[in-house]
Amino acid sequence: MTSFARLLRDARTQLSAVLSLESNVAGLEANMLLGHVLNQSRTYLLTNPEQAIDAVNLAVFEALLQRRLNGEPIAYILGRREFYGLEFYVTSDVLIPRPETELLVELALEYIPLNQPTRVLDLGTGSGAIALTLATLRPQALVTAIDSSLHALAVARHNAKALDVHNVYFIESDWLNSLDPAIPFDVIVSNPPYIASNDPHLQQGDLRFEPRQALQSGADGLQAIREITQKASTFLTRGGHLLFEHGYNQGAQCIALLLAQGYTDARCFRDFNGLDRVTSGNKS
Ligand code: GLN
Repeated sequence: MTSFARLLRDARTQLSAVLSLESNVAGLEANMLLGHVLNQSRTYLLTNPEQAIDAVNLAVFEALLQRRLNGEPIAYILGRREFYGLEFYVTSDVLIPRPETELLVELALEYIPLNQPTRVLDLGTGSGAIALTLATLRPQALVTAIDSSLHALAVARHNAKALDVHNVYFIESDWLNSLDPAIPFDVIVSNPPYIASNDPHLQQGDLRFEPRQALQSGADGLQAIREITQKASTFLTRGGHLLFEHGYNQGAQCIALLLAQGYTDARCFRDFNGLDRVTSGNKS
């Protein structure tokens, strides 16, 4: 009979050896996997180290551990990831929400008053993490979320239901192409793909398993951002705001793209690692 403690120790050793994870991260992942299989909390597993696992659960655990050892992201195996304090269902049809993207949400919240119906658009919503977080924190906001992938929209709609959010409208659209500029938005946000097609990171870690169209954007990574900055202004109210995430080395180019399109107050903001991560501009 294998005890929880021994199982967790062995899994941690394997995870850190095969995936080069730091020991505490490997330990946490082992614990998350076992907790998922047994439907038990981390605390329960840690406070019952001598408890034995039965054969069926052991087989399920071994199978999930093997998927993780093959490099599959833990978020896809568990089917969930926390973002801005909310839990999102994720599948390999959507990008896994990143902590860096919380900066985009924080900045957007400053432009969305609590007690006023503000029209907000999220371009390339994926799991819906950005749109649904904004909609939850600003219940008066009227949020439209688009994605070109029906599979992604199914995940986002699932999340809207699970989070009991009713002020997000999902639309299938290739960026702004299916939207009507007659009804403009006050705030447009996006975490578009921004990785250059030859970037070696695409062949590493979690990124290998994520949807390519959510990551990669032309030879310089700026194809989607170019399209968004060119087209978004027609869909913004006067004084409206465009904010989007980008790569750490794309800040200056993003500001230049906004200025070239006539936006004012183009500014770049740094994430918690001190890296350029979000650029915003206003429609004058
Ligand atoms: N920040 C992600 C990464 O580099 C990329 C996300 C994106 O392209 N929007 O892993």
